[in-house]
Amino acid sequence: MKTRIISLLVSLACIISSCAGNNPQAEIFPLPDTPTPRVMQRSLFSDAPDSLIITLGLQDGIPSSVNAFLVKANGLNILFDAANGAENSRLMAELAKCGVAPEDINLIYLTHLHGDHIGGLMQQGMASFPNAELYINKIEYDSWMAMPQEKTTKLRNTLQAYKVTTFLPDKSFWQDNMAGTTFMSTELPGEVTAIGAYGHTMGHTIYLMGNVLIAGDFIHGMALQARYPEFCAVYDMDKDAAVATRKGILKMAEEKGLEVYGMHLPAPYSL
Ligand SMILES: [Zn+2]
Repeated sequence: MKTRIISLLVSLACIISSCAGNNPQAEIFPLPDTPTPRVMQRSLFSDAPDSLIITLGLQDGIPSSVNAFLVKANGLNILFDAANGAENSRLMAELAKCGVAPEDINLIYLTHLHGDHIGGLMQQGMASFPNAELYINKIEYDSWMAMPQEKTTKLRNTLQAYKVTTFLPDKSFWQDNMAGTTFMSTELPGEVTAIGAYGHTMGHTIYLMGNVLIAGDFIHGMALQARYPEFCAVYDMDKDAAVATRKGILKMAEEKGLEVYGMHLPAPYSL
C-alpha cells in the first residue's frame, strides 16, 4: 500500500513517504542536486528510433534530474549516493531543509561510483560527511580499483577520506525464470537490503528498505525507458545486462508492490 504525505515539519521540498515494511517511522527525502530541472538530450538515447521519440514528444529532450536520497530510519540518517557536488550543488541546502547536518549522516550507501553520484562526498578536499561510513558493492569497488591509478586519483582520494566497507550480494533475492534474470542480495546495517543490479556499471547496486526501492541509475529517461526498457542511455556500460536489469527491476517492483525511486527520475523522483 503506497502512501505519501507532505511533512509540515520540514520544507515542502522534502517529500516524505512512509516506508511501511517493518518500520513505519522510516521516511525518505529526495535531495535534488541541480537548481533547475534537468533535461537529457535525445542524442543520449541513440538506440531509440526517431519515430518513437517523436511519437512520445521527446525530440527536445527527456525530463530527468540528479538526486541523492536521505532516509531517516531506526535512529539513523542514511544517505543513498551523494550527487554531483558541483559548484551550484543543492545537496547540502536540501539536506539542511530536512533538518539534518552533514555530521549527522551515519551511513552512505553508494549505487555506483560515477561522478554524479559521489562528487558530493568531498568539499574542498575534505569529507563532506565526516562521521559517515561508506558502503560499496565489492564488484563495483574492485572494477574501479583495477583502473589505472592516474585515471582514478579523484575517486581514490574520496574513498580514502572515509571508512569504506565493501559487500557482496550472495543470496538469491528474486528470479524471473522466463527472462533468466536473478537478483542477488545481502543484508546491511540500518535494515537495508543491497541488491546487485548490474549493467549500468559492473557493480551497480540498488537498495531496499521496507517497500521503498532506491534504484540508482536503472533508468535515465523515464518517459522513454519505463515503457521501452530495451533502450539504453549511452552511459550504460554493458547494454545487454543493463536492459535485462531494467526489465527485471520494473517486473520485480510490480510483483512486490515496491515504491521505486531513482537518481535521475524527474520530480517527484519516483515511478
Ligand atoms: Zn548517474
